[in-house]
Amino acid sequence: MISKHDYLSKLMTQQDAVAEASRCLGCDDAPCRTGCPAANDIVKFVRQIAQRNFRGAIKTVREANVLAGTCALICPVGELCEFRCGDKLERPIDIGALQRFVAEYERTHGMSLLPAKQSAGKSIGIIGSGPAGLSASFELARLGYNVEIHEAEQLPGGILTYGIPSYRLDPEIVNDEIEYIKAMGVKIITSSAIDDLKSFAGNYDAVFLGVGAYRSLPLNIKGEKFDGIFQASAYLKDIKVAQLSDKPPMINLGKEVIVIGGGNTAIDAALSARFSGSAVNIFYRRRRVDMPAFRTEIASAENNGVKFNFNYSPIEFLRADKRVEAVFCRNKTGKIDRSGRPVPVQIEGSQESFRVDNILIATGQGPTFREIDLIKTDKRGLVIVDDATGATSMPGVYAGGDAVNGGATAVQAVADGKKAAHGIDKYLSNSESNNCISGEPL
Ligand SMILES: Cc1cc2nc3c(=O)[nH]c(=O)nc-3n(C[C@H](O)[C@H](O)[C@H](O)COP(=O)(O)OP(=O)(O)OC[C@H]3O[C@@H](n4cnc5c(N)ncnc54)[C@H](O)[C@@H]3O)c2cc1C
Ligand code: SF4
Repeated sequence: MISKHDYLSKLMTQQDAVAEASRCLGCDDAPCRTGCPAANDIVKFVRQIAQRNFRGAIKTVREANVLAGTCALICPVGELCEFRCGDKLERPIDIGALQRFVAEYERTHGMSLLPAKQSAGKSIGIIGSGPAGLSASFELARLGYNVEIHEAEQLPGGILTYGIPSYRLDPEIVNDEIEYIKAMGVKIITSSAIDDLKSFAGNYDAVFLGVGAYRSLPLNIKGEKFDGIFQASAYLKDIKVAQLSDKPPMINLGKEVIVIGGGNTAIDAALSARFSGSAVNIFYRRRRVDMPAFRTEIASAENNGVKFNFNYSPIEFLRADKRVEAVFCRNKTGKIDRSGRPVPVQIEGSQESFRVDNILIATGQGPTFREIDLIKTDKRGLVIVDDATGATSMPGVYAGGDAVNGGATAVQAVADGKKAAHGIDKYLSNSESNNCISGEPL
């Protein structure tokens, strides 16, 4: 069984970091960089480490990604930059660990602020303080805007604070990077849920929506509201809130737990339950290769004793002897859908039941922000934006992160926030073009 220590133990020594960085070929086409949504200049920062210029290296990373230390811990590098480096080297450069090394070097030697333009007196309102909102705020502060973030929760950080478990993401690192952003002049107003976009927008020259998409979607099956059945996101939040307030969690899962779903939320909930001592079975409606969760996370859940059951769909929940029973049916594979995966097709008469202490549901998420219907959205309720600028259908309102893509990665949210900041800058420097996507302006 691995522990928090194993998860966070990849911190390199200076000597190891220099040796690892010295293996880099400095490729002209730098496929590693094209694998990074935030366009981190990997060739440059790795070279700076090889030359022992650690301050220069962290400056290079932070210019591309203000959440350098956070992303160093949670980026699925094996599916992004390091995966691309695999085209050049049999053993790819350990880019994630090098980034972690320089971020930690800066944290322990003092963080230096990046230069910012003088304020031009214009103000930007941001809704949501997850990676998208934080990244947009930092970039806008650097471009000389007065920035205010409004966050519904008591603490900033979005899923970084209330979702991703502490054994994978050290809350102190997130906190230090948020303090860094505040030191750049960004004001974060917490416990401030915005529910009137039109009047909010009236207070600012432009707005960025980084509201995420962390509302759990119901399964819409019988028995879903029984005691003993929780949303996995609520369980993860309960653990984080308990840790942050130094109190025991409210949800005690008991000995045997079922987690339903195949994404990162399902895996994090399953491993958290495992670390708290429960025997955990994940049930997923498709095949293993179809799971949206990161490969490394699936592997670590398996290594820690989480059992996987594929091609099972829940059809009903029952309450029995103070326990809960999940009734599933087996699936076979059908036609390929738009995601490129076969549709699960239920096999008639294939029902199987499992009785456990508690069930966690992690089968999908959607946007939380009710005011989103003021702007153009797709069928899932996700905000439609201009690809190049992040502009929505409402003039002066931009969006990015999970609210737009439905749930991807923190580094994608960072990239979206940066892109929208530059879209806003262009819009405000050239206000006669409204720079919004076609739609019904308010
Ligand atoms: C359990 C889990 C594990 C994950 N693991 C990883 C990982 O290992 N690596 C990785 O790269 N990505 C991971 N992800 C994905 C990543 O966390 C998200 O893609 C990222 O956080 C999205 O950032 P965001 O800023 O768009 O939204 P969020 O992080 O969801 O932040 C949105 C913020 O907006 C606030 N908000 C919403 N509505 C309002 C309102 N009306 N007024 C004010 N504030 C509002 C919310 O309270 C929230 O703080 C994971 C996601 C989950 C759920
Ligand atoms: S692909 Fe690998 S070897 Fe080439 S520049 Fe990037 S990190 Fe270095």
